[in-house]
Amino acid sequence: MSLCQPSRERSCAACCGIYNDSGTRVEVTAEVRERTREFRSISRPLEVESLRDFRQKWEKEADQRLMAELQNCPFVGFLDGPDTAPSGRLGCMVHPLQNQGFDGRDCGVFDRHICEDYLCASYSVLSMDEKTFIVNLPLDAYTYGLVITDPMLIKRTLSLVATEFGSSPQLSKTSESFRRALAEFFEFKHNWPWRAPDANFGPLKAGKDLETPRRSLILPEGELSPDPVDDLLVCFGSTFESTDDLLEARDLVRARIVQLASILVNS
Ligand code: SF4
Ligand code: SF4
Repeated sequence: MSLCQPSRERSCAACCGIYNDSGTRVEVTAEVRERTREFRSISRPLEVESLRDFRQKWEKEADQRLMAELQNCPFVGFLDGPDTAPSGRLGCMVHPLQNQGFDGRDCGVFDRHICEDYLCASYSVLSMDEKTFIVNLPLDAYTYGLVITDPMLIKRTLSLVATEFGSSPQLSKTSESFRRALAEFFEFKHNWPWRAPDANFGPLKAGKDLETPRRSLILPEGELSPDPVDDLLVCFGSTFESTDDLLEARDLVRARIVQLASILVNS
């Protein structure tokens, strides 16, 4: 099953580096829309020279990326055209399937073999049920990419909802209202009120060079014990300035988990 381009509605461009950017969802998708517009104006058939010029114009400098050593490929675009932004499918504009067989991926930030062969950890970590369930959630491509590449978020959320509900729900039988509410909950991946600047990396932090140490919550010594929702705070890339902020964030997540479980009960 493809997690990268599972349907006409869903897609991911995380490993092309789209989240290696400190911009908001609105800012990043607006820029990708402009890039897509310009890419589509390049004369056809495509030529390596024009792709090199395009890359030179749109590739972000190292100091504009969250992690300088990590790439952010300028050939990510809205595959069905700029007018589908911000909710259209994101993907590789120089893929041969997009260009009548012409493969421009060697002009990108990796070579085409890496682009072709790479599969992220979610392919092996998520169960088939989880994959099928997530690719069918009503998520826009930007949010979907943040979610599908964060298996801890997916598994921990489903496990907390199951605990609250009293048993593991049969994912394939969940109602439309549950799927909508869960998709809304996952929007915290980009609109979480306590986001750290590198929150796009979820449970990982932007480290030195290519290091991505695990993110952890620093709990005030002796005051608080770990809470089951803390893993989700980590997945949302939290940073807290005070204990009150942390407690408020826990309450918010707990309330949303209870709400999700009650939708399951009532549907
Ligand atoms: S990060 Fe994973 S799901 Fe996303 S495009 Fe890459 S391999 Fe596919
Ligand atoms: S060239 Fe490779 S890295 Fe760039 S957008 Fe295409 S698949 Fe992604």
